[in-house]
Amino acid sequence: AKELGRNNCQSYTSEMNAKVRDRLRRQKQLGEALANGEFRVVYQPQVDTRSDTILGVEALLRWDHPVDGPIPPMTFIPLAEETGLIVPIGEWVLRTACFQGKAWQDAGLPAVTMSVNVSARQFLHDEWVSTVARALSDSGLEARHLELELTESLIMQDLDGCIETMKKLKEMGVQLSIDDFGTGYSSLSALKHLPIVRLKIDKSFVRELPQGEDDRAIVMAVISMSRRLNLNVIAEGVETQEQVDFLRESDCHEIQGYYFSRPVAPGDIEVMLRERGEVG
Ligand code: C2E
Ligand code: CA
Ligand code: CA
Ligand code: CA
Repeated sequence: AKELGRNNCQSYTSEMNAKVRDRLRRQKQLGEALANGEFRVVYQPQVDTRSDTILGVEALLRWDHPVDGPIPPMTFIPLAEETGLIVPIGEWVLRTACFQGKAWQDAGLPAVTMSVNVSARQFLHDEWVSTVARALSDSGLEARHLELELTESLIMQDLDGCIETMKKLKEMGVQLSIDDFGTGYSSLSALKHLPIVRLKIDKSFVRELPQGEDDRAIVMAVISMSRRLNLNVIAEGVETQEQVDFLRESDCHEIQGYYFSRPVAPGDIEVMLRERGEVG
């Protein structure tokens, strides 16, 4: 039994070592991915179901590893956050998205809001506001066409610091929204004081609509709260006609999800914008 225990212990240790090595390898690859041009940004439309027009797009990062193939954001974003690599990578996403948004406008397509995800490490960085200002002035995209998606956990990490930064961005004309709403612990009283324009209902609440009773109640509550606080509300992860119908009946007309389109390459968005961009 003693023998066995030691063996178990050894294999456990070598397994751990393998995991650590794996992680370090991935970390190193991630550090080189930007310079190697392995990242690209895809865009997912945000649609108004009343007018059937595209109001905006969300920029989503993709990493195509030359050997291992596509690596899901769920895997590499946390790694980028832990290592701090999210700061340069996130800046690249922001700049790519701003230049893309401007390029669509220059091509004569209807202007849409460009939404970009922001991690805590980026938002709480001293240089963040000037990074955003530079991305806007270099690209020529107007601030009102840029929206930054923040999570509740990011905001609650340093509420006062965040509000200060949010106010600066708002003064510049940038729009702010809360992503994955309902999954964090932001207090409603804090929400009232945040300079945000929009809540995004997390897809975990949308998944089981319209059957899931709890989810129905939560989604309806978030929508009516948004109305009272004068916030726009969008549901993410919308996949079915039944979900669209339920949301519409609940007075939520903005949706994002596979129902309308998956995140796609810029050229595909261009085609959609020609057909369904907002007029005027
Ligand atoms: P998120 O910000 O909540 O983005 C929405 C996610 O839902 C995306 O996953 C999108 O592809 C997926 N999605 C869209 N429609 C549907 C649908 O109808 N059904 C389902 N099941 N999923 C749908 P993705 O692209 O894998 O990104 C995962 C997460 O990675 C994002 O969640 C975001 O937190 C993070 N992320 C992605 N790009 C960036 C980035 O540039 N910066 C930062 N900081 N985070 C990013
Ligand atoms: Ca998001
Ligand atoms: Ca989300
Ligand atoms: Ca999320």
